[in-house]
Amino acid sequence: MNSKRSVALVGRPNVGKSRLFNSLAGRRIAIVHEQPGVTRDVNTFEVDNDYTLMDTGGIGLATQTVVNQDDLLSAVEEQVFFAIKAAEVIFLVVDGREGCMPLDIIIAEKLRQYGKKPLLVVNKIDSPDLEERTKEFSCLGFSPAVPVSAEHSRGIGDLREHIEAMLGPKPPDVETDLERRIKICFIGRPNVGKSSLCNGLLKSERLVVHEAPGTTRDSVALDLDYEAPNGEQWHFQLVDTAGLRKSGKIDTPVEYFSSVRSHASLANADVVFQVIDAREGVSRQDKVLAGETVKAGKAMALVVNKWDYALETFESEPLSGYEDEAEFRAGFAQAANRNLFFLPDSPILFVSALTGYALNELLATAHELDARASLQLSTSRINRLISRLFENREPRRIQGKRFKVYYAVQTGIRPIRIRLFCNQMTRLEESYRRYLQKAFITEFGLHGCPVNFELVSKHSLNRRTNRCPR
Ligand code: GDP
Repeated sequence: MNSKRSVALVGRPNVGKSRLFNSLAGRRIAIVHEQPGVTRDVNTFEVDNDYTLMDTGGIGLATQTVVNQDDLLSAVEEQVFFAIKAAEVIFLVVDGREGCMPLDIIIAEKLRQYGKKPLLVVNKIDSPDLEERTKEFSCLGFSPAVPVSAEHSRGIGDLREHIEAMLGPKPPDVETDLERRIKICFIGRPNVGKSSLCNGLLKSERLVVHEAPGTTRDSVALDLDYEAPNGEQWHFQLVDTAGLRKSGKIDTPVEYFSSVRSHASLANADVVFQVIDAREGVSRQDKVLAGETVKAGKAMALVVNKWDYALETFESEPLSGYEDEAEFRAGFAQAANRNLFFLPDSPILFVSALTGYALNELLATAHELDARASLQLSTSRINRLISRLFENREPRRIQGKRFKVYYAVQTGIRPIRIRLFCNQMTRLEESYRRYLQKAFITEFGLHGCPVNFELVSKHSLNRRTNRCPR
């Protein structure tokens, strides 16, 4: 499902938006709250596996039974704002029986203000002789007016044709780019074994190595084609890091850190392996480095190199306090996780570049991480999850108003980006952001991939431009 293809219904209450929503969705009864994947505010349905239909009618009204004029005005304003930001096509729904009302004019004005041209849909035109009534709405300034009757399924076919024409043909499903190379970048303090790991990988018999076009072996990048155990061909590129580069190797930590930060290799990487030395654990510098990686939105794993030391130790005699190597490993992982608590539940690999121990896990993990960071998440599952999360733990009230998300949609991959349409612009508190991220990681199996949340509200629009951003 292409999240960009979406149609929003706006209009004042009782013009028949939810009836129309159900007719377009091909259903008979309005079951607004019980549908999977909807928040109470925005009702969504994925039509024909092609576009998302949204009824914005619940925004701002959900908890109230009696509404005064001011609340109504601010509710429709929120609805219009949401539709403008979230939908490609907007239907302005009006009531052909009641005629043109002041609130219709206000909504039309708002849409115009943002430079948006909606399709005017005149509902409740139950028979041909009522079609005359559409003329009355010419004052809204949007033509043509399409007469429909959601109740009697009149004109719904026409409306579908309008949708098709306005959205354009359904694009073919995005093919996964089989030839795309997964760019892997090794980072870590000097001497933790980054070069040795790269060299260790290059010895793999399943690997065909060729220099990336325009580069030399020791300068920028190496292309690797790998035959996975299941017979698939995986394509990687080892991106230059201070560790890959043998000549002109950077030796001091200060130099190294400044090179990593400014270096395009981290920015260009799809997957980052942060290497630490088994004998040293996670240092303060490692924490800084991991923070940079997360900030860059990269899928990452922690690679504990030189694990041969641990294996050797336990071969001769156990370390005091540990039953065996497995227990030591678990303790090591726990300590690393405690130190790097801000990581997106990244995998931890225990390897040895020297002996080749578990090196085969590196490419498999890189492949896996890249696939996770490229996932297209189902919009309805996202919204279901968001509803649940907000129910389980409400965000704090800010200036008396509770932060609320109407609707969420994925807007990007690598990193996974989720746009949250909300009722007010407030910073997502760090602890709440982490709570959301953690839940997304568990729900969608995104271990190792940061999830970026982008807040969009009416206030963000006003602040930025006051005009339609499209
Ligand atoms: P880099 O600066 O991170 O690229 O580190 P190098 O790959 O140059 O390795 C630094 C030192 O650690 C070298 O002396 C390597 O031989 C040694 N080394 C690297 N990996 C391992 C390993 O898995 N086990 C052991 N015992 N030594 C290693």
